[in-house]
Amino acid sequence: MSVLIVGSTALDSIKTPNAENPRLLGGSASHASVAASFFSPVKLVGVVGEDFPKKYVDLYRRHKIDLAGLQILPGKTFHWSGEYEINMNNRRTLLTELGVFENFTPHLPEAHKNSEFVLLANIAPALQHHVLDQMKRPKFVAADTMDLWLNIALNDLLRLLPRVDCFVLNDSEAHQLTKEDNVFLAMKKIHKLGPKYVIIKKGSHGSILSSPSGHFICPAFPLHDLCDPTGAGDSFVGGMMGYLATARGPIEKNFRRGMIYGSVVASYCCEGFGLNKTTKIKKSDIEKRVKELEKLTKF
Ligand code: AMP
Repeated sequence: MSVLIVGSTALDSIKTPNAENPRLLGGSASHASVAASFFSPVKLVGVVGEDFPKKYVDLYRRHKIDLAGLQILPGKTFHWSGEYEINMNNRRTLLTELGVFENFTPHLPEAHKNSEFVLLANIAPALQHHVLDQMKRPKFVAADTMDLWLNIALNDLLRLLPRVDCFVLNDSEAHQLTKEDNVFLAMKKIHKLGPKYVIIKKGSHGSILSSPSGHFICPAFPLHDLCDPTGAGDSFVGGMMGYLATARGPIEKNFRRGMIYGSVVASYCCEGFGLNKTTKIKKSDIEKRVKELEKLTKF
């Protein structure tokens, strides 16, 4: 089973206390698609400009990502730049150049409309709606977001929540949305807005799931050398969706393991700039860390 992923396809210029890397392949859809591709075929829906380097198209292709839904429009690719503070937890956006993203309308090729697993990665909620409007009968829809949309498109986001099965957000966004400090109470409030599954991400402290069969505390893989956490959240949800799309049996039964796989792919993402490390690993590297996490959390 394949996963349809819509989101941003970007050039990211990233500064950390130790290094600076311009115009890497980035964007929520790029990170999520590469992560999902370890487990299932991926159909990417996004937009890039004519300046988008061919080597990045080749990279998508090496991961067997279906690019029929990737529009190439006259103009510049979305360019985002961010800088991390010394502790690597705090990041500030230095620049957002929308380019072709400004007038982007996702059009799904006919074959994409039947996809059963859909990931609405971080992108304007109006565009997430637009993708869902074109889908025939998806089996499972997950959506991610960011603080920007809570600030400038809250109504669109609130209308989206009853349309998704799973909503993924980080702890500060959950606080902003619900005004709750306690994540468990925040999740309860988010369920009332629609989604059956709610995941709150807590960065290097892992994530928490609230689902019909209760809660799950998913650890982050303990890292010694953090290089660049950009895209870790997207890798987490992409890896999880890729796993869920191919795992046998009911989604509910596979959910926890899916989160663990997502968490492991995210750990590799943090060990290199942009997608540099994630694109060099093999499925066996992922399995190795899953086993290590199993050992670390067994009692
Ligand atoms: P994360 O580290 O999970 O927050 O995701 C970082 C990615 O989000 C980067 O690769 C950026 O290109 C992308 N990004 C930054 N701002 C936006 C935005 N306004 N809309 C969509 N994607 C964005």
